[in-house]
Amino acid sequence: MKKHIKILKKKLKIFDPKFKEECGVFGISNTKDASALTALGLHALQHRGQEGCGIVTFDGKKYYSEKRFGLVGDNFNKEEILNKLKGNYAIGHNRYSTTGDNILRNMQPFFADTNAGGIGVAHNGNLTNSISIRNKLVEDGAIFYTTSDTETIVKLIAKSKRSKTIDKVVDAIFQIQGGYALVMLTQTSLIGVRDPLGIRPLIIGKLKNSYVLTSETCALDIIGAKFIREVENGEIVVIENNELKSIKPFPPKKMRPCVFEYIYFARPDSILNGKAAYEHRKNLGVELAKENNTDADIVVPVPDSGNAAALGFAQHLNKKFELGLIRNHYVGRTFIEPSQKIRSLGVKLKLNANKTTIEGKKVILIDDSLVRGTTSHKIVKMLYDAGAKEVHVKIACPEIRYPDFYGVDTPTKKELLAANKNNEEICEYIGAKSLNFLTIDGMYRAIGFEKRNENFPQLTDHYFTGEYPVKPIDELGDSKITQLSLLSTASNN
Ligand code: AMP
Repeated sequence: MKKHIKILKKKLKIFDPKFKEECGVFGISNTKDASALTALGLHALQHRGQEGCGIVTFDGKKYYSEKRFGLVGDNFNKEEILNKLKGNYAIGHNRYSTTGDNILRNMQPFFADTNAGGIGVAHNGNLTNSISIRNKLVEDGAIFYTTSDTETIVKLIAKSKRSKTIDKVVDAIFQIQGGYALVMLTQTSLIGVRDPLGIRPLIIGKLKNSYVLTSETCALDIIGAKFIREVENGEIVVIENNELKSIKPFPPKKMRPCVFEYIYFARPDSILNGKAAYEHRKNLGVELAKENNTDADIVVPVPDSGNAAALGFAQHLNKKFELGLIRNHYVGRTFIEPSQKIRSLGVKLKLNANKTTIEGKKVILIDDSLVRGTTSHKIVKMLYDAGAKEVHVKIACPEIRYPDFYGVDTPTKKELLAANKNNEEICEYIGAKSLNFLTIDGMYRAIGFEKRNENFPQLTDHYFTGEYPVKPIDELGDSKITQLSLLSTASNN
C-alpha cells in the first residue's frame, strides 16, 4: 500500500501533505476603520507570507470575507474592497505555505457557523497532531474542504458540546498540539490564543479605544498603535466590550519562543523580548566574529537576510563592511519558488555581484542561515566570477540539522545540507575557501542568555539540537492516507 501511494504521489506530483505555514495574523476591535487598519497591519506583516491574504469582518449582524491570492498591497488597495468589509471588528491573515496546496480554499481567515454563532479564525503556526485529529473527525463523518490544519481547529470548535464560544475554543485548544498563534473573531469578541510554550509569536497593542492582536510589533507601528505586552505562552485573551480578559487554561510552563523568529523570520524593526530583531541579529554577528575571525579585506552580507549580522560582525572586528551583492527588490523570497530548479534560478534573479567592490578582494560573506545551501552555492560562484580572491562564508546561526514541525518552512532532513554533510563537505559543496557556523551557546549569548540551559532550554531550537519540545505526532504516525485523497482533489481547484 505504502509503495502504491509513493508511486501515485510521484505520478500526480503531489507533495507530502505536511501542513506547513508560517503566516502573519492581525486582529482589531472597536473601530470604524477595522478593515483598512487590518489591511495596513497585514501589509507590514507581508514578509511572513506572500501567497495569499484575507480579511474577515463583523458588523454586529453579518460576517464579511475577502480572500485573495498574492500581496496585500495588490489586493486590499481600493476603497470599494475595504468598504465591502463592513464592521468595527476585523481579523486578517497573510499566508505562506509550501508547494502543493496553493488554492483559494486554503486561504484564511476561516469561518464557521457554530450553534453559539459564527467564528472567524486566523492561524500562524503548525499543529503537530492535526492529521491524527483530522482522520478521527473524518471517521466520525466530518467533511473537510481545505488542506490546512486551521480547518481542524475550526471543526473542533464547532464540534464542542459546550454552550459558550469561549468554552468551545478552550475545548478545541486542549486537543491540539504544536506551535500556534490564533486570532479569532466571534459575534461578541476578538480572541487571541498562544500555544503553551509560546513558540509562535502574538502580541497585544492598543490604538485609542481599540485593541490589536498581531504577530509582530511592526504591524502596530504602521497604524500608530502602542505595544502593550506579549500574549503569554498558553494564554487566551478575550477582548469584549472594550475590556481585555485573560484566561490561562493550561498548567504554567516556561516560555520557549522559536529561535528562528530572532534569526530570520521577524522583520528587523519588530521588537522581540524588548529588543529589535535587528539588534539581536547584529549580536549574532558579534558572537560569530568573536568565535571566527578570518583575515579578509571586506565583509559582505547576503542581502537582506545577512545585513544585520554582517554589520555586527564587521563593527566588532573593525573590518570594512561593503555591499558586494545588490538585490533586485522586485522579486519575492527565493524560498517561495516551488521546485529546486526554479529556486536555483531565483537566486540569480534576485542578487548580482557588485563587481568593482569585489574584484581582487578577500571576502567574508555572511548570511543568517544555511538551509539547502542553494543561496551560498550560487553566491560564492557569483563572487568568484566577479573576481574575488577568496570567499570565506560565515553563517550567523548553527548548523540546521533537523526539520521544523511548528510553522517554519524548513525542508525534510534529506534536503538539509548540514544534516547530511560535515563542515568540510558543505564548504566544498558551496565552493568557499572556508566555512564557519555560530555555536549554539554563541547564539544563546547573542539573544541575551549566558548559555543554553540544558534542563530548561530558553528557546525552541530543535533546528540545531534535534530536541523537539512538542512531539511531532503526525510525523511519527502513519496517518496520511485520508489527507492524500483530499489533496489530490483539492489540487484541481
Ligand atoms: P538555502 O539557500 O537553502 O541555504 O537557504 C538559506 C537562505 O534562505 C538564507 O538566505 C535565509 O535567509 C533564507 N531562509 C532561511 N530559512 C528560511 C525560511 N524558513 N523561509 C524562507 N527563507 C529562509
